[in-house]
Amino acid sequence: MTDNENIISIHNLYKSFGTKEVLHDISLDIRRGEFVTILGPSGCGKTTLLRILAGFEKQTQGEVLLGGEDITNMPAYERPMNTVFQKYALFPHLNVYDNIAFGLKMKGVGSDETDKRVMQALKMVGMTDYEERDVDSLSGGQQQRVAIARAIVNRPQVLLLDEPLSALDRKMRQDMQLELKDMHKTLGITFIFVTHDQEEALTLSDTVVVMNEGLIQQVGSPIDIYNEPVNPFVADFIGESNILDGVMHADYEVEFMGQTVKCVDKGFDKDEIVDVVIRPEDIYLLKRPEDGQWQGTVQSCIFKGIHYEMLINTPDGYEMQVQDYNKFDVGTTVGMLVKPEDIHVMHCQYTENTFEAKVIDATHVEMLGNTFECAPTDLPAGSMATAHVSCSAVELTDNAQDGTAEGEISFILYKGDHYHLTIDSNDGTRLYVNTTDVWEDYDIVGIRINPPDINLTPLPD
Ligand code: ATP
Repeated sequence: MTDNENIISIHNLYKSFGTKEVLHDISLDIRRGEFVTILGPSGCGKTTLLRILAGFEKQTQGEVLLGGEDITNMPAYERPMNTVFQKYALFPHLNVYDNIAFGLKMKGVGSDETDKRVMQALKMVGMTDYEERDVDSLSGGQQQRVAIARAIVNRPQVLLLDEPLSALDRKMRQDMQLELKDMHKTLGITFIFVTHDQEEALTLSDTVVVMNEGLIQQVGSPIDIYNEPVNPFVADFIGESNILDGVMHADYEVEFMGQTVKCVDKGFDKDEIVDVVIRPEDIYLLKRPEDGQWQGTVQSCIFKGIHYEMLINTPDGYEMQVQDYNKFDVGTTVGMLVKPEDIHVMHCQYTENTFEAKVIDATHVEMLGNTFECAPTDLPAGSMATAHVSCSAVELTDNAQDGTAEGEISFILYKGDHYHLTIDSNDGTRLYVNTTDVWEDYDIVGIRINPPDINLTPLPD
């Protein structure tokens, strides 16, 4: 595809605020007329990316092309884009008409043309007859429509929308989602929409860009992203998932939860450790436990309008989320069956931590900003090394001072019988920890590692 078919091309974009990197090597093509949603948890960098596109923020490195032309130095007001913000940012002292007409007046557009375009924009957002109204007298949903009208009246080629529906109540948000979709179709322009709400992203978009921690995790259609998540983060963030540790014994043969079963995946190393993802709706519950690949006991059963949502505990200590149209009573023993095509196998991202480390002496090393006692090493004092620490060998303490180093929990993934935690240590190193203890996002923890579990290898020359 040439850059001309893409209205926007982002190449190797980086952004840092001070020493904090918030966007890392972002490359993305957006086609003309596409509805693209940038989706990710709070703080992942999506607003920063949108602000760079709008020209409100400058990238540290990389380039943004518009229709093939580098727009790095083009000021925001010259870009054929308009932004709709989360807070409507309307002028409270102007009525609806004047709010929408403001930009056109500034540009010196004649009053007949302004009139025509304001009326068209009002019609587009379903607010005909509201032009004389005071904006303060409007509901949140109506104010957001005015904000959208104010953006589209300039006839931008690209409409940037930064969580525009997040201040609305659920019902209003759903109505506005449908209207936005209609508007996108009628206007025929490119919409770039930022949200942390996965349901909203799946409902609205042609293409979803999933981001986490400043990185693009996956780009695809809503169906691809839901059905074929590329990693456990995407699987966990988009919809409900059971994410489990597994071992790929051979092509089409994976072991998890104590059973080796058929799957449709191939091309893994023999006995490679993998992540296995199964959606709750893909687990079939059977009345005769012996008919299932696994057996379990119904722990809870909640009616969700169309289906029942159940938690099933296996004798090995796994907890599975299952959705079924049939009700299974709490306490019943059931069989569970998963079809090969519903088992999604992924390369496991982190089974071991590797830290940059400096050898202090034969039994001490500096890493994570502190000195740790380590397994005996022959490496010379003062040399740089890689410290290898298994994810299961890190112990966390409630009281941060009780650890050798300190960190904050930034992401928690439940893996059926344990939690896989992402922790940012105080010196900025990221570590991964497997634990059965229950922690919460943003908990500050102490980090302890038994000396024999810290093994050093020299850095390659
Ligand atoms: P949210 O949905 O909470 O707005 P987001 O994914 O849009 O999250 P950003 O607003 O892009 O995230 O912020 C990404 C990171 O950059 C955050 O850690 C934020 O604190 C930081 N950040 C954003 N703007 C600035 C700034 N002007 N100066 C310093 N840090 C900033």
